[in-house]
Amino acid sequence: MFNKKTIRDVDLRGLRALVRVDFNVPLDEGIVTDDTRLRASLPTLNYLIENGASVVLCSHLGRPKGEVVPSLSLRPVAKKLSELLGQSVGFVAECIGPEVQAAAEKLKAGEILVLENTRFHPEETANDPAFAAELASLADLFVNDAFGSAHRAHASTEGVAHYLPAVAGFLMEKEITYLGAALEKPEHPYVAILGGAKISDKIGVVERLLDQADQLLVGGAMANTFLAAAGNDMAASLVEEESIELAKGLIKKAGKHLMLPVDLVVADAFSEDAAKQVVTPDDVPDGWRAMDIGPRTVEKFSDVVEDARLVVWNGPMGVFEFEPFAAGTKALAEAVAKVEGTTIVGGGDSAAAIQQAGLTDKIDHVSTGGGASLELIEGKKLPGVEILLDRETDDLL
Ligand code: ADP
Ligand code: MG
Repeated sequence: MFNKKTIRDVDLRGLRALVRVDFNVPLDEGIVTDDTRLRASLPTLNYLIENGASVVLCSHLGRPKGEVVPSLSLRPVAKKLSELLGQSVGFVAECIGPEVQAAAEKLKAGEILVLENTRFHPEETANDPAFAAELASLADLFVNDAFGSAHRAHASTEGVAHYLPAVAGFLMEKEITYLGAALEKPEHPYVAILGGAKISDKIGVVERLLDQADQLLVGGAMANTFLAAAGNDMAASLVEEESIELAKGLIKKAGKHLMLPVDLVVADAFSEDAAKQVVTPDDVPDGWRAMDIGPRTVEKFSDVVEDARLVVWNGPMGVFEFEPFAAGTKALAEAVAKVEGTTIVGGGDSAAAIQQAGLTDKIDHVSTGGGASLELIEGKKLPGVEILLDRETDDLL
C-alpha cells in the first residue's frame, strides 16, 4: 500500500540522518503546552538511534515569515524532546551555516541535534535550491517524518530530497497507510463530517466528499455559510459572504447527501459567558450568532453516523474552546467513538476537541496533520511524499 522506502529499508549504521519532523507545537512563554507531535516522532527517532545513526532534526514552528522571531525558537522544544527521550539533545540557534555544520559533524552514533526553526529563513517556504542543498550537506540521508507539512513543497520538506536519498519515517508511513487505505477504497456507508471555521479552505474537500461519501454532515461555522446560502438570515454569525454563491451550487448538487443543522445554539456575544438559547436556523435573533449545533441536530447526525462503515471527520461543530458551546462537538464525538466501522479524525482543533472529550483512544486514527489530511481526502498528491524513493523501483544511492 505505502509504496515509498522507509528507514526500515536502510542500513543505518554510521549514517547521519537529517530528519524533518513536525514540531509545530503550541508554546506558552517557552513551555510546550501540548507534546502530542513530539511523542508522535519518538518511534522514528528511537529506531534511528538504536540502529546506529546520528540524527539532525529540523522543523518549522509557527509563521515567523522569514525572520528570526525569538518566541518561535525551537530551543524549548529541544528541551522537551530531551525529557521525552530520556537523553540529552543538542541545539544550535541556526539551521544552516558553519556552526551547524561543525555541530553536525561532531555527532556520534545515537546522538541527536535539533536545528533552529527553518522558517527563520525566507528560503524555506520559497523552496530555494541553494538553501535546500545547504540543509542536505549536513547529512547522508533524508528522512521525512513531517506528515503535517507534507502537503507543502518547502526546502526542508521537498527541496532537500533533490540532494539526498530520501525515505519516510514511521509516522509518515502510518498516516499515509491509514488515511490512504481508508480513502482509496472507502467502505460504505461512508459518512463525512465537516465543521470548523472556514469554508473557503475546504471547498475542494466538500466537492470530493460529495462525490465519495454517502452522507456529508456539516456543522460549525462552515454550516453558517451553507445555511445563509439556503436563505436563512444568520444575523451576527460568522458567514463567508464571498462563498455563498458557491455554497448554493453545492447544496443543489448534493441534494439529500448534504445534511445541515436543523437547530443551533446561538449567543448574544462571542464569549464564554454570553447569554444563549437554542433556535432553528430561520429564527436567529438580530445581533445573535451561531456558536454550536443544537440537540436535535446532534441526534440527527448521530443517527446517520451510527451505521457507518467509515467516518471521516474534520472540524469541530462549534466554538468548543468555550465550555458552554462544546456540547455539540462532544456529543457527536461520543457517537463517533461508538461506531464499529473505521473512524478517522483529522485537523489540529478537531484532534484537540477529541482529546478534551477523552475519546482519543476510541477513535481508530487521529491524524496529526490537518492540512495534509485534508489534501489526501481531496485526492491530491503530497509533494513531501511524492519526492521520496519508491519502494519497488528506486535504488538507495
Ligand atoms: P481543524 O483545526 O480541526 O481543521 P478548523 O481550524 O477548520 O478545524 O476550525 C476550528 C475552529 O472553528 C475552532 O477554533 C472553533 O472555535 C471554530 N468554530 C467552530 N464553529 C464555529 C462557529 N459556529 N462560529 C465561530 N467559530 C467556530
Ligand atoms: Mg485549526
